[in-house]
Amino acid sequence: MTELAYLAEIKDAYVRTFRAHVVALPPGGVVLDRTYFYPTGGGQPSDRGSLSLGDGGRLDVVDVSKSGSSVVHRVKGPAQVLSRLVVGAEVEGSIDWHRRHVHMRLHSAQHLLSARIFARTGRRTRKATMAGNRAVLDLDGAIPPELLVPLSDDLTAALESPRDVSVHHVPRAEWDRNPSSERSGLVPLPALVDPVRVVEISGLDVCPCGGTHVRSTVELGRVTLAGPVPLPDGGSRIELRLDASDEPGPSG
Ligand SMILES: [Zn+2]
Repeated sequence: MTELAYLAEIKDAYVRTFRAHVVALPPGGVVLDRTYFYPTGGGQPSDRGSLSLGDGGRLDVVDVSKSGSSVVHRVKGPAQVLSRLVVGAEVEGSIDWHRRHVHMRLHSAQHLLSARIFARTGRRTRKATMAGNRAVLDLDGAIPPELLVPLSDDLTAALESPRDVSVHHVPRAEWDRNPSSERSGLVPLPALVDPVRVVEISGLDVCPCGGTHVRSTVELGRVTLAGPVPLPDGGSRIELRLDASDEPGPSG
């Protein structure tokens, strides 16, 4: 079992290096007792980075995935370093910060966009997928193309008048009574999820999510929207792209 250390508080998404112990070595992979590496899931790609051994050896982390209650860090490196990796060893994990921060920005921008689409049209996001510097949102119905301008303005407003983003862990019964669950209520949360980890963009959105997020909307930077493209089942697709020339550093 791996403790998902990046989940606890919003600040934990900003941890770039950490120490942990090896608890298992499946073929090509390393399981740690705790990790700040985000494993692929919820539409968000995994982190990358490296694991350093106490003796100076270093392995690249090329993929991270969940396997039951464990997180498997898929590693590549020299055979002599791999052979020195043993259960019980202490390692230092180091996260590729550029990639992590792009995912934090994309995921938070996606929450905000989904919230604004719901507020303006009642359409819910049934799926969101992030890759590279883009997020793709699949909505549960059509939206008028002219809506892209006011949606873009909504995102700019959140950049110019920044909102805090925070993480809370809410008892399930409380979450089910929360009217904010309406926006994200398309796919029922599995009954086992209790407490619910909710990501809140102050005054704008509350959404259950296990992803990594920025702590302020000022970190989103400029984004460009494209679409909507109709989907065969009556839904529609909107794309959000981070402006590559506009890369704000972490706030605070
Ligand atoms: Zn999310």
